[in-house]
Amino acid sequence: MRIIIDGHYLPGNVRVSRDLLITLKNVAKNLKWGIRYDATRELVLINSKDSSVPPLPVDKPNEERVEESARLANKVFCLDPGHGGSDPGSLGPAGTAEKDHTLAIALLLRDKLEKNGATVIMTRDSDKDVAYPDAIPDEELRVRVSAANDAEADLFISIHNDSFTSKTAVGTTTFHYGDRESVQLAKLVQECIGNRLGTKDRGSRFASFYTLRYTDMPAILVEVAFISNPVEEMLLSSTDGRENAADSICEGIMKYYKV
Ligand SMILES: [Zn+2]
Repeated sequence: MRIIIDGHYLPGNVRVSRDLLITLKNVAKNLKWGIRYDATRELVLINSKDSSVPPLPVDKPNEERVEESARLANKVFCLDPGHGGSDPGSLGPAGTAEKDHTLAIALLLRDKLEKNGATVIMTRDSDKDVAYPDAIPDEELRVRVSAANDAEADLFISIHNDSFTSKTAVGTTTFHYGDRESVQLAKLVQECIGNRLGTKDRGSRFASFYTLRYTDMPAILVEVAFISNPVEEMLLSSTDGRENAADSICEGIMKYYKV
């Protein structure tokens, strides 16, 4: 992992560790510096407040900082917006792509978690393949799991949209790999999404997805809604729908930690 402050590389190359990430995050917070970890390139980007370097598209200072707290301090989360780049995921009847909805929701969720003190690692924070351009699906999944495992994240949250041949299928499902902690997290997130987003509750369920199987920490995969259903596609495309999805996943995580 390389560290860049105000556009300048610090000498040396250090192992990505959760302790280092937390320390950097806390230092940056105390000094009111912007900080962002780019998991794909293993870069920590820092901009100090008085820097002449343009601020990174990171912490948005002076924005309405609502519900700020330290409830998730010292927690590290890996958020995985499903698909991206050459892989659009499923497409809705109006032509929107799953990869755009998953990214939008994950970015909102990142902000909410960070406002509560968490350190967040994104497997991607823009529309791109994570491994390399046009990567095959297996490789994409492998690097996403590595990002979470290398950083020793506390939770892995993958965000997807469901799709079915019939347009009538609707609702939210949260998948886990059957271990006790993941089951509990999936159950709470699933409940919160149902309450806030108002989608049909399809339950929290076991699934043997690669990202759930090979991550070292409690891990869930949320199918927020059906992109193949025209109404739910609109929900996924709307600001409110995305906000509510992110809010409810954040709420589920808080409940999991009982904070
Ligand atoms: Zn998907």
